[in-house]
Amino acid sequence: MTHKANSHIHLKLHVLASGSKGNASIVECADTGEGFVIDCGICKRDFFARCEEVGFDTQRIRAFFVTHEHSDHTKGLGVVMRGLAKQGIRPLLLTHPSIVRASSKVDEVVSQKLCDYVELAPNRIYQLSNVYVHPFSTSHDAAASFGFRFMYGQDALGYITDTGIVLPEAHNALLGVRILALESNHDICMLNEGDYPYDLKRRVQSDRGHLSNEQAADELAALLHVGLEQVVAMHVSQNNNTYRLPAQMLQRKINEAGYTTQVCVAYQDRAVSVG
Ligand SMILES: [Zn+2]
Ligand SMILES: [Zn+2]
Repeated sequence: MTHKANSHIHLKLHVLASGSKGNASIVECADTGEGFVIDCGICKRDFFARCEEVGFDTQRIRAFFVTHEHSDHTKGLGVVMRGLAKQGIRPLLLTHPSIVRASSKVDEVVSQKLCDYVELAPNRIYQLSNVYVHPFSTSHDAAASFGFRFMYGQDALGYITDTGIVLPEAHNALLGVRILALESNHDICMLNEGDYPYDLKRRVQSDRGHLSNEQAADELAALLHVGLEQVVAMHVSQNNNTYRLPAQMLQRKINEAGYTTQVCVAYQDRAVSVG
């Protein structure tokens, strides 16, 4: 018996884009239609087109969360928020002050008052309507960086990308979720044999880089439980990975442990929804 089967009060995840060319996801409350955007590193046209494609009403955007300042997570923030402002929507923006300082894109939407800025700190719980959000620190080469646990009624969703390792506090925050969005960035062999410069190869593999397929599979194995219905492989590299490998590696761990968790992969150029 799962949380979803017990109640209509549940969360959905729409991944509009995922990967080093741009990231944006929306956590939606299925029964209220309210949405919480995580990162906005895609252009305005793609953002609105993919929201429509997945059936999410952008009028219902309540807040934006910014995980960290890298441009693949922030470059569309201004254009999308200006588009929303024209529709009379002024969302909350939750991020860390050092991310605002480190990103001209984030600083711009705060200083132009396109949003109501809320300072985010790790391990506090933020209540937005009936949704509770627990940000936790990730391990990444950014001024500050976060993953999130969203909670709504009995339902919970975990979201972690752009992290070189899964810190203990992140692991704890991801326990017991029904939907898990988990970075599975690169295949170590493809990265090492590929044509990235040496320094970049080292950076990607470092403790402050990105999770490999192997690391993602090990983390999934440690998080598997009977209520974990969906795992989504995130931030899959188009240079150092394939879309098939993360799915295979995650599926293998699920099979070994005898669970029925469904696996899907988030793409750079098209939207994926789970719920
Ligand atoms: Zn990224
Ligand atoms: Zn990053």
